[in-house]
Amino acid sequence: MNAKTGRTTNFIRQIIEDDLASGKHNKIKTRFPPEPSGYLHIGHAKALCLNFGIAADYPEASCNLRFDDTNPFKEEFVYMEAMKEDIRWLGYAWDGEVKHASDYFDSLYAMATELIKRDKAFVCSLSGEQMRNYRGTLTESGKESPDRNRSIAENLDLFARMQKGEFAEGSYTLRAKIDMAASNINMRDPVLYRILKASHPRTGDKWLIYPMYDFTHCLSDAIEGITHSLCTLEFEDHRPLYDWVIEALAYPCHPRQIEFARLNINYTLTSKRRLRQLCEEGHVDAWDDPRMPTIIGMRRRGYPPQAIRDFCERVGVTKKNTVIDMGLLEECVRDYLNEHAQRAIAVLDPLKVRIINYPHSGEELSSPLHPQRPELGTRVLQFGAELLVDRSDFMEDPPRDFFRLGPGREVRLRNAYIIKCEKLIRDATGKVVELHCSYDPKTLGKKPEGRKVKGIIHWLEAKSAVPAVVRLYDRLFAVPEPQQLEKSSASLASALNPHSLIVCEHARVEPRLREASSEARFQFERLGYFSIDPDSRADRLLINRTVSLKDAWQKKLGASAPKK
Ligand code: ATP
Ligand code: MG
Repeated sequence: MNAKTGRTTNFIRQIIEDDLASGKHNKIKTRFPPEPSGYLHIGHAKALCLNFGIAADYPEASCNLRFDDTNPFKEEFVYMEAMKEDIRWLGYAWDGEVKHASDYFDSLYAMATELIKRDKAFVCSLSGEQMRNYRGTLTESGKESPDRNRSIAENLDLFARMQKGEFAEGSYTLRAKIDMAASNINMRDPVLYRILKASHPRTGDKWLIYPMYDFTHCLSDAIEGITHSLCTLEFEDHRPLYDWVIEALAYPCHPRQIEFARLNINYTLTSKRRLRQLCEEGHVDAWDDPRMPTIIGMRRRGYPPQAIRDFCERVGVTKKNTVIDMGLLEECVRDYLNEHAQRAIAVLDPLKVRIINYPHSGEELSSPLHPQRPELGTRVLQFGAELLVDRSDFMEDPPRDFFRLGPGREVRLRNAYIIKCEKLIRDATGKVVELHCSYDPKTLGKKPEGRKVKGIIHWLEAKSAVPAVVRLYDRLFAVPEPQQLEKSSASLASALNPHSLIVCEHARVEPRLREASSEARFQFERLGYFSIDPDSRADRLLINRTVSLKDAWQKKLGASAPKK
């Protein structure tokens, strides 16, 4: 914990604090650089919380949002808009205008030309396959390209003609002149520019050559005056190249690249490409399916942004790759919702209960909106002679420890009376369709004398309850490590959890849910946390289970529950 910020610290924050203390920097600048090729997911949330969190916590610090749009990609605009919305929803704001790597294409072209002039880059005519053969291996050094010693003038001429469109795709590349014997393969004369006769969503047909990630990223950081460029561990081996490019150009700003471990979570996937596959193969409805680990999916499911931020904080930032238990994310959601969600009642699979000795036409009972927060007030629950209870709270031939309804058994209706099951009513097939019960008027809010009633069940008054379709979501995969699966559709399909979505078509809920907004969160007593789906309509309420009340998967795993 940092004494000044009051926040959990980590090795990156430590570096930043040291840089501030030593005077190396007086303003910290970070960036979040997603590639607009899909929707943001929980892994991105970790990088987001880290970069934007730093910007929020240090004086005058800020964080840029920069779309890494070096690869022309057709749906880019849709994804960019969605990503901006996700970032805002998580509670963050980027500094100034949104940036794009493509904003710097002119500067990057000029800097590539400058590298040629400094004899640090050359135009190479090796094909992709030849280049692979020349590259060498981890144990063998590579072979220099026959074009490596072209004159500077010839390189300048060829590079300009690459952009003029004189050559076919794949015929030439611009490569850095570093060291074909370097132990780090990334340093073996890496490609900086390639010919790509593609139209770019932002720059149109202006460019026929496009810069590579390793050339673009470090220079975009430098142009923006980024102080700390935080990225995931797979870029560790690219850091020497990051530094080389900036030094080769003697660029006045040299950001420090720091790597941290990617977030991996069990029972789900955190790769845009794999998530796209799930959508395209129809395993989920779309990117915003509530089972998806995307920000829009989690949002639709009812995860509050605070819980996602809390999760990223609890996961922490380290250099060690681990797989985090999905239970921890769910625990963060529960912790937030337990405190903030109003209580309400839903009956998912209704079974009619008739109170045979109820003498009134009905009455209104009061019930707290939150058991620990009296300041939130109360709600009115309609009571009457015809009620609905959940079928799972009744058993015709219950074992002794089933403390709910069964022939002759007594149970308390939550926040109401004790009832006793007197008679079962069946349809022509013999199925129990109604219970006739008696109630004890003296037991409203009181313990009955001399009787033990252990079970408490939830209920709704039949006439006033409103129909709703309730969707019970669970984990998308039944296997803990779906990222290890083969990429094939069949292997993905076989690993899916067949119970990841159960639709309760005939559920009933309290009438006030008709007026609830999609931002409202509810705890349906005894059932879990729920929220209203954005597609919900007044005549067809659509409600999603955000998370169950308890972690049913912990038992299956036999693992210990993750702690705060
Ligand atoms: P994906 O494979 O899902 O496309 P990516 O790393 O290619 O992921 P980008 O859009 O390039 O995604 O990432 C933007 C930022 O988010 C990068 O800084 C990247 O390191 C970070 N990031 C992406 N996935 C994760 C993850 N699982 N954990 C932590 N950070 C991540
Ligand atoms: Mg990517």
